[in-house]
Amino acid sequence: MSAFAARAERLRGRLDSRQVDLLLVSKLVNVRYLTGFSGTNGACLVSADERVFFTDFRYIERAESEVGGFELAPAARDLLVDVVKRLSGRVGFEDGHLSVRAHRRLEELASDAEADVELVAAGSLVEGLREVKDESELATMRAAAELADGIYEHLRETGLRGRTELEVATDLERVMRERGTEPAFPPIVAAAANGALPHATPADEPIPADTLVVVDLGCMLDGYCSDCTRTFATGELSERAHEVYDLVATAQRTALDVVRPGTTGKEADSVARELIDAAGEGERFGHALGHGVGMEVHEGPVLAQRNENELVAGNVVTVEPGVYVPGELGVRIEDLVAVVEDGYEVLSHFPKGLITLD
Ligand code: ZN
Ligand code: ZN
Repeated sequence: MSAFAARAERLRGRLDSRQVDLLLVSKLVNVRYLTGFSGTNGACLVSADERVFFTDFRYIERAESEVGGFELAPAARDLLVDVVKRLSGRVGFEDGHLSVRAHRRLEELASDAEADVELVAAGSLVEGLREVKDESELATMRAAAELADGIYEHLRETGLRGRTELEVATDLERVMRERGTEPAFPPIVAAAANGALPHATPADEPIPADTLVVVDLGCMLDGYCSDCTRTFATGELSERAHEVYDLVATAQRTALDVVRPGTTGKEADSVARELIDAAGEGERFGHALGHGVGMEVHEGPVLAQRNENELVAGNVVTVEPGVYVPGELGVRIEDLVAVVEDGYEVLSHFPKGLITLD
């Protein structure tokens, strides 16, 4: 069975649990996951005995080469017009994704349809499947993480001090494109006090000597993201900066070690949080320990207090504790990690020890 057939099969098993006859998948990333289609206008229907893929004339050829195991249904650019003609019974839709306007339109079209159609909010069924990666997805994500390692190597060679955050970020993006990948998200380069903002945008000011610089980047490969953060020094650091770095590094390693099937997102988060709390920095770790990564850079499962579900083999998550001292500095260390039968496999291989860059 192909990977795509296996995914459709898993999805079919879940339709029953939501008591829907048919699922309408319109979120593009989910359409790509199920069908392989990489164009920008597509939707699909999955039921117990049907799999239909819709796209407009611009993408028919692409669909013929990319999409297997689905009946290919040419449609108007406004796909819904043709999609509703194929609906009947209880039809699940992706309520987390469909805009209010699109939903209203779907309702109107469905009420005019010949068959009886009942629209049912189906939640995030496909997102649930996507949380568990198969071997081919893991291979792609390993490669995406390796590309990010290479971008860090480039940074190690080109340095930080005296360049502006913006220059560095722009250069990192350029190198990614040169190497046939693209940023999974705009890279973060945040020196000194900017590093205390977990989502800082790169500033157009030179990076000073003797400070810490948080660099967070990811590469996109064949539809899959990687995500990795390292914190660098640009010279001599204060004792406080060393303390914070060591604390985050210890929390990162300790939390990493509990990643395995059966550990809940909450438990993993707690391991790092308790350590950072005990050092008196609890208030300065203001985000969750990690998040799932895949076709989207933020997806399930999260490693956070609110997630009491157990990790399973095939999950890919980040482990990224941080300590942010307002007005002073920030440290974050983030690895991309796959959950495997007997523990975890780290996909990020750039060194985690403190590296000083000129
Ligand atoms: Zn990141
Ligand atoms: Zn992240």
